[in-house]
Parts: sequence; structure tokens; C-alpha cells
Amino acid sequence: MAEKLFGHAADVENAILVSVHNGVGAGIMVDGTVLQRRVGNIGEIGHIQIKPYGKRCHCGNYGCLETEVSLSAALEKAEQLLSEGHPSMLRDQPLTIESLCTAAVFGDGVAQRVIIELGQHLGRGIAILVNLFNPQKVMIGSELNRAKTILYPAIEECVKSQALPSYGENLQFMETRFYTQGTMAGAALVKQALYDGSLLIRLIEG
Ligand SMILES: [Zn+2]
Repeated sequence: MAEKLFGHAADVENAILVSVHNGVGAGIMVDGTVLQRRVGNIGEIGHIQIKPYGKRCHCGNYGCLETEVSLSAALEKAEQLLSEGHPSMLRDQPLTIESLCTAAVFGDGVAQRVIIELGQHLGRGIAILVNLFNPQKVMIGSELNRAKTILYPAIEECVKSQALPSYGENLQFMETRFYTQGTMAGAALVKQALYDGSLLIRLIEG
């Protein structure tokens, strides 16, 4: 809702926001309305199974999108590649999402492998959403946006090959406006807009 009111979804009526932090989730906006259901949002894509023999997820299933694509999964994958002895600039510094993304942008093979694989898994989940909701825009909210020059082509390639061709055409991919602050900043902005009346004015104008 914050992205619709103040962010990068202000110019469209149909958009999907995919957030990748410790978990993976999505917000889905159809005709200007963020879909809701009886318990919270609609868009629990984190528990779509993408690897039947993957790791056990806290939900009880195996190989959920969330177990493959969260920030901790990215760091774990990088650690695994480093422990296998692959050369990487990540050996000389503490392994964080920031250092991983910076290394990927600088052309580090290990870091790029992690980001590209993650993008492909994420792309599979996003392609399902695109087929279901035919959005105009897909927004990614994640610290991984630091490596978007590597991440987005991997996501886009996967989505364009797995979504209906007409749905993939002119589909825009971009970062959310509030990605560095998680979703709390967005929630705070919406709450503030409710109190000061600006949300009401926008709704009336809309
Ligand atoms: Zn799960």
C-alpha cells in the first residue's frame, strides 16, 4: 500500500511486490487494491515448493522458495562455495549480504553464482504470480537490490521463459522505494497517512 501511495507503484494499478529478507513474501495489487484475506495478506509465495528434495522448511515442507532464496540461504550458499575452495574476493572480508552483492557487481564468480541461482529460483516463483495476476510491474524489496545488475536479468530471463509470452511483454522489473528499510517503514507511512487524513484525501481523489 505504501508503494502505491508513495512509491514505485504509484503509476500502475496492477503490480506485485516480492520481498526477500529472512523470509520471502509477496504483496499483490489488482486494479489498485492490495489483496487481503481473512488472516493477513495474500501472497505467501515463500512456501511454494521449488525443490522437492531441498532443505526442510519450518512450515514442514521441503525445498520451499523461502529455504532457497532468503538472505540467510544466500549467505549459506556462498559459505558452501567458499568451503569447496572456489577462488573469491569474499575470502578477504566478512561475509555479509553487502559484501556478497558488492563482489557480484565486481564480477566475482562465487558471488555471481549465488545471486544468479537465487534469481532463477525467485524467477520461478514470480512467473507463477505473473501467470495468475498479469501485473504491469514486479517490484523487488530486498537488500539484494544492491546487486540488481546481476539479480534482475536472472529473474527476468526466468519469468519471461515461464510466464505467458503476452504477460511477459512490457513487464517492468524494479526495486521497491522502501527496500532498505524492510516493510516497517511502509507500514509506518500508511499509518501516518491514516492519521493525518492524506490517505483519505487520496482515496477520495482516486
Ligand atoms: Zn515452507
